[in-house]
Amino acid sequence: MLEINNLHVKLEDEDKVILRGVDLKIGPGEVHAIMGPNGSGKSTLSYVLSGRDGYEVTAGSATLDGQELLEMEPEARAAAGLFLAFQYPVEIPGVGNMTFLRTAVNAQRKARGEEELSAGDFLKLVREKAKALKIDAEMLKRPVNVGFSGGEKKRNEILQMAMLEPRMCILDETDSGLDVDAMKLVSDGVNALRSAGRSFLVITHYQRLLDHIKPDVVHIMAAGRIVKTGGPELALEVETNGYADILNEVG
Ligand code: ADP
Ligand code: MG
Ligand code: MG
Repeated sequence: MLEINNLHVKLEDEDKVILRGVDLKIGPGEVHAIMGPNGSGKSTLSYVLSGRDGYEVTAGSATLDGQELLEMEPEARAAAGLFLAFQYPVEIPGVGNMTFLRTAVNAQRKARGEEELSAGDFLKLVREKAKALKIDAEMLKRPVNVGFSGGEKKRNEILQMAMLEPRMCILDETDSGLDVDAMKLVSDGVNALRSAGRSFLVITHYQRLLDHIKPDVVHIMAAGRIVKTGGPELALEVETNGYADILNEVG
């Protein structure tokens, strides 16, 4: 599904190198977690995959089902089935949440060669998915993320994901700012989407999210590289001992 080889990335306007040879392979239906100290490049990896401006790829590749993502426009990446739930969801004043979702869903359907959803079908679907995430009707009418609490923004990201049904989902610290109940809602929302053909990359600081969303593989990222890969026990090791032991071990 997603294959990243030797990815090197620097800031476009500065001589700052952020990613220094990331290798990662995620198969269909797999859930991978990336943990790592602040500033290790986790968000940068997700931004570069989704096509955000400001970064320059100096080496390496990232393919989704064999298609080179790094050469595609952000919209084309989304159409190909890539979705990123942001660590800091953007506010879009003046654009209603519902309108935004409907436009995104229909653009996605068009890209897949499917018919647009009728207004009625769309409404039914969005209400059902919003209800599961305890997002009320009023939040659907407000401009995207404007005045939403941190937790509401994160739930809204998961609503977008549930509506778009992407094949490769990247969640960047979706658990940060969530209380225990909201974390359960978000995790249930993610788990409901798990399927044989859909993969997840879950970036998190905390093992507790991985109690709810059980990963197949856990990676530790440090200084722009994946320095260690293991099973769920690796997340427990981090929770107990922090990163110091692992970082010492890998030099
Ligand atoms: P993480 O998500 O693992 O905490 P980031 O990918 O956010 O790490 O950041 C990695 C490093 O790159 C940090 O030192 C960060 O300050 C720097 N960085 C990332 N994006 C930018 C940017 N647009 N401008 C300046 N520095 C950046
Ligand atoms: Mg960070
Ligand atoms: Mg980050």
